[in-house]
Amino acid sequence: MQIDQYRCVACGNCIPVCPMGAIYIDPAVGRAQVNQDECVECYACFRGMSKERLFPPMVRAIRRVAKAFRFRFDPEPDICPTDAIVPQDLTWPRIVRRAFSDPQVPHESTGIHGRGTAEVKTNDVTNRVKEGEAGFVIEFGRPGVGARFGDIQQMTQRLAAFGVEFEKNNPVTSLMTEPDRGLIREDILNEKVLSAIVEIKTGLDQVPAILHIIRSVSRELDTVVAVGVSSRCDAAGNEPLAALLEREGYPAYRGKTNLGLGRVTRQVAV
Ligand code: SF4
Ligand code: SF4
Repeated sequence: MQIDQYRCVACGNCIPVCPMGAIYIDPAVGRAQVNQDECVECYACFRGMSKERLFPPMVRAIRRVAKAFRFRFDPEPDICPTDAIVPQDLTWPRIVRRAFSDPQVPHESTGIHGRGTAEVKTNDVTNRVKEGEAGFVIEFGRPGVGARFGDIQQMTQRLAAFGVEFEKNNPVTSLMTEPDRGLIREDILNEKVLSAIVEIKTGLDQVPAILHIIRSVSRELDTVVAVGVSSRCDAAGNEPLAALLEREGYPAYRGKTNLGLGRVTRQVAV
């Protein structure tokens, strides 16, 4: 994202809108600027603010006069008064930032918006995680923190070395050059996104080892990591994960339950 330096009147309204804290007023030029390294191209500033098209030199003049008389001339807090926030033409590899950070952009690999994955929310119809298996959703980054693919790769490499398989229909997997080694395209390793999700599936017996790897690698990363684990319930509605997680020191809460009311799209081999 860019700020039109002629149009900006440095009112500062866009600063709190940015989830990455990437917008700041440069006192040297008296205009807002975007830290391009931190901007994840989420478009929150562009879409989230109302726009007026006041004449910039006039607004600056009024603000100067007002300042001289010790009062302020500020636009309403949700308005960019001069329509100065301008999207730039995004090319590879920067375009990856928007694909993972703008919830209105669908991923080419999955057709799903935002981070581009249904996670295990649709497991009742996809049967991806079967009995005796555990599905992991490993989420990197949060608003205000973000995540770079270089950090994500540190985790995927360690998981790959353990022998896990990455979910094929996942946007991060689609950016891997060598999934069996957890290697992500080199040209995007420095790209920063609001958040991204890695999905894997293992046997239930491997859950403690996987949790151990995630915990130890996450300490080395310059981002935050959140983990969700899922399994199938048996016919009585019991699931095997809670006790397993408690044994590993994680209080288990059943966050989401798929009821199995959807149309089955992937049959389980009998
Ligand atoms: S809201 Fe518009 S005019 Fe105000 S600082 Fe931001 S870009 Fe500049
Ligand atoms: S596109 Fe998003 S990250 Fe970039 S400056 Fe705007 S709000 Fe901040």
